[in-house]
Amino acid sequence: MPLPADPSFPVPSPSDSESILASRRAWLAAASAMPALAFGASGFADEPSPAEIDLSKLSPKECLAALYAGNQRFVSNRLLETHRRMDRLRAVAPRQTPFAAFLGCADSRVPIEIVFDQGFGDLFVTRIAGNIASSENIGSLEFGTLVLGCKVLYVLGHTSCGAVIAAAKRDAVPGQISGLFQHIRPAVRAAKGDVAQAVIENVRNQAVILAEASPVIAELVRTGKLVVAGGVYDLATGVVNPVEIPDVT
Ligand SMILES: [Zn+2]
Repeated sequence: MPLPADPSFPVPSPSDSESILASRRAWLAAASAMPALAFGASGFADEPSPAEIDLSKLSPKECLAALYAGNQRFVSNRLLETHRRMDRLRAVAPRQTPFAAFLGCADSRVPIEIVFDQGFGDLFVTRIAGNIASSENIGSLEFGTLVLGCKVLYVLGHTSCGAVIAAAKRDAVPGQISGLFQHIRPAVRAAKGDVAQAVIENVRNQAVILAEASPVIAELVRTGKLVVAGGVYDLATGVVNPVEIPDVT
């Protein structure tokens, strides 16, 4: 199967936007080369098919490629939306088998199912400002991966993230908002205050925390049942650009 064999395949230098775009094109090429079963009768990711697809039966890498293919459909305005109707709702009501778990930001402009052209029962999503891996989120994502069987664990940041910007400014904030900052400041320091780079660093940091802080997740990765990935959603274009996630397992 013409899929990338190396988990680090879609991993550009985070500081090199051209490299990120090249990597994304490579991923999309891989996705479009997948079996017809995955994306449509012709096998091309951007050709809609009414067929119901059980992504939970694909490999972790195939599931990751399916996410990027869904984002490509979203960006090119060729959505399938096959899982957003009442028949799908009824089909998954008794039991869920999502294929990807997410740690995303709470930002209203990043609706994860829409961004990846998925629907009911496809994604197990946790969202919190700054997409930080709190202990509660880790517990939820352990449930999504170990119990529900998600094959991808994806950390999704986004451009102009308010939580990252606030953590960089270090201004006084009311209530418990500042409780988020301690999780994000290592990324701000690594990026030397550059917000765009800090968003990338934060995605990477939270993904590493997920893998390192959770023996459950680390074991799933080690045994090839789960792939940890990450990316940055561009608020202006809708494109999700992959971020390199080091293997810490
Ligand atoms: Zn945000």
